[in-house]
Amino acid sequence: MTTSRIAPWASPRAQARLAEVEAAVSADLSPTGVADTVRKALDAHAAQVDDDGIVLYAGTNVLSPAAAAATLPTLSNRPSMGWPGEKYQVGLDHLDTLEVLAPLLVADLMEGAHAEVRLQSATLANLAVYTAFARPGDTIAVLPEAAGGHASHHAQGVPAVRGLTVVDLPYDPARLDLDYAALPGFLREHRPKIVVIGASMMLFPHDVPAVRQAADEIGAILLYDASHMAGLVAGRVFQRPLHEGAHVLTFSTYKSFGGPSGGCVVTRDPALAQRVSTVAYPGMLANYDAGRLGSLAVTAAELAAHGPAYAQACVRNARTLAKALADEGFTVVGRDGEHTRSHHLAVDAHDLGGGDTAGLLLGEAGIYLSGIGLPWQHPDEGLRGLRIGTQEITRRGFTPADQPAIATLVRRALLDREAPEQVRADAIALRREINARQANPHQVNPR
Ligand SMILES: *Cc1c(COP(=O)(O)O)cnc(C)c1O
Repeated sequence: MTTSRIAPWASPRAQARLAEVEAAVSADLSPTGVADTVRKALDAHAAQVDDDGIVLYAGTNVLSPAAAAATLPTLSNRPSMGWPGEKYQVGLDHLDTLEVLAPLLVADLMEGAHAEVRLQSATLANLAVYTAFARPGDTIAVLPEAAGGHASHHAQGVPAVRGLTVVDLPYDPARLDLDYAALPGFLREHRPKIVVIGASMMLFPHDVPAVRQAADEIGAILLYDASHMAGLVAGRVFQRPLHEGAHVLTFSTYKSFGGPSGGCVVTRDPALAQRVSTVAYPGMLANYDAGRLGSLAVTAAELAAHGPAYAQACVRNARTLAKALADEGFTVVGRDGEHTRSHHLAVDAHDLGGGDTAGLLLGEAGIYLSGIGLPWQHPDEGLRGLRIGTQEITRRGFTPADQPAIATLVRRALLDREAPEQVRADAIALRREINARQANPHQVNPR
């Protein structure tokens, strides 16, 4: 077996790839050689994914041109520690503008009063909330992994950093939602300090008031993780978590929200906000990369103006794509004959060799997405589903009328087993046709 230097402990598959790249990049390690190697990789990536890819991966997006322009390369290297007016550093008064605009706009957009915007990811936002409201040895209750509970909710993720015990909330696979009848008794038994809802795949909204009522009975904090749903929440589509009763909302800023990479914590309660803010700084951060805040502010302002239309367009595309895939013969997940109410949809890939295998094959065909657990899968089955998100194709200009063409490409790759390169040529052609059209109001130019 080839061993890699970077991670000799990694799986054989990863080691083989790491060793291959290690050999390729080591040919010229001079500054100009490395700069050239990096440039080529960046250009090839941009051409493959940004210009020509059909990106259906649910956890990504592209910046709007105005958001992409609202940044300065030097800013990430300017630590800005403490509140405007009492910063440790001097000379950063102009950054006060960004540091005030971003949390104000984000808090309003998400129907909160206070937003902590400095954390670099939703994983760290969740850790900040755990740290603020639970102590080592406490329990938190989260969605099962196969129901979209994220690594940052589970025992192998940041709950371990805080020394928390994690229990799975009762779940009803047939409803693709929590088992609300069992919830109050479950919470009385386990007495978690924090109840975490919201998932990496959400087809249907939670009954937030019901969860809040059960959480109140035991004095638990209700955290809604809207990492994937934030763009819809901003558009007042799907679910309004803080309005419906969540104490705290966390989310990734770069998925359906469509901003720069980062994580936010939003709440209406100043006492809760203060605890999270103090954990964030000085607890978890020194330099937090202020370079993201201008883009975040512009993204939030754009969502305030156009969020409902964008969110509705994402959902329309998802529902149309789900129908088109079902028409092509795929087993599309849903309940009561409905496939989704969000920008997500899922295919049960059991008969396609599982979600991971199907995802790899689609990748070769120029269609990028991932596997996902499904609540009815067996523990040792691998990821049984394929998860699809329509946020990026919506921004790229795809409309409901374009969804059957995507479904046909997926059918050709996965059901007809056509050669992936052949499907890929047509996937690229479709993407280029839509790049050239620029007719959609949500359209973001390729590069
Ligand atoms: C993607 C995701 C996260 C992690 O987001 P990052 O910003 O990448 O850390 C957290 N929670 C859920 C539910 C997610 O799907």
